[in-house]
Amino acid sequence: MSNTDFTLAVEDLTVSFDGFKAIDALTLYVDRNELRVIIGPNGAGKTTLLDLICGKTRATGGSIKFKNEELNRMPEHQRVRRGIGRKFQTPSIYENLSVFKNLEVSYPAGRSVLGALGFRCTDAVRARVQAVAEDIGLGDRLDTEAGLLSHGQKQWLEIGMLLMQEPELLMLDEPIAGMSARERELTAELLQRICQNRSVIVIEHDMDFVKRIAHKVTVMHQGKILAEGPMEKVQADPKVIDVYLGH
Ligand code: ADP
Ligand code: MG
Repeated sequence: MSNTDFTLAVEDLTVSFDGFKAIDALTLYVDRNELRVIIGPNGAGKTTLLDLICGKTRATGGSIKFKNEELNRMPEHQRVRRGIGRKFQTPSIYENLSVFKNLEVSYPAGRSVLGALGFRCTDAVRARVQAVAEDIGLGDRLDTEAGLLSHGQKQWLEIGMLLMQEPELLMLDEPIAGMSARERELTAELLQRICQNRSVIVIEHDMDFVKRIAHKVTVMHQGKILAEGPMEKVQADPKVIDVYLGH
């Protein structure tokens, strides 16, 4: 496989904050339809890596290629248009709007029939909202005000808002924090479903959850990759046990 076949190819990526390298010559490849989990101690650089990929933070050096196109100097909104979706740790849904409206407003404006003339809820948009709502387990909650949803349902709604844009790479930072056991289980199923059509990167701490969802695990430490591979291999790695799993 050549590097051009990957959905995401991060090579020799570095970012320094006042001389401190939060990401230090990091190289990482993510396949099409792969679900990659990134683990590692606090401060390892996991969130910063997602910030660099989505364009929230500019790299100091190295390369980030998405479907073989260099992203490094591309502004954040253009990366979204190219198909990169990012969920932050705190949900940013419209609490006073219904589930339906939250999903509807997330439909990419440029793709609506009337485009710049103004948004109208066409049958195509309505169908897409319905399909995404089913995907995130909120198919029968379309009229519910988002503020009334449970914590877990709010997280799913935000994932749904990203899915409305049909991203080819979806990145989630600690998506199950604060969820109940049942919600975690449903989230694992949701992630397994959505990676059938796209690549997904998940940062997570809960090892049972990681085991359930990960195709491959990348362990980060001090801005570098400490280990990478299937969960069983990574879990048995003495370096990983030493800096992370042993604690
Ligand atoms: P993780 O998500 O793995 O816990 P982070 O990516 O949040 O780690 O942080 C990695 C390191 O980079 C930390 O030491 C953090 O303090 C530092 N850092 C992150 N963002 C900035 C920033 N904008 N300015 C300065 N330091 C930062
Ligand atoms: Mg973090």
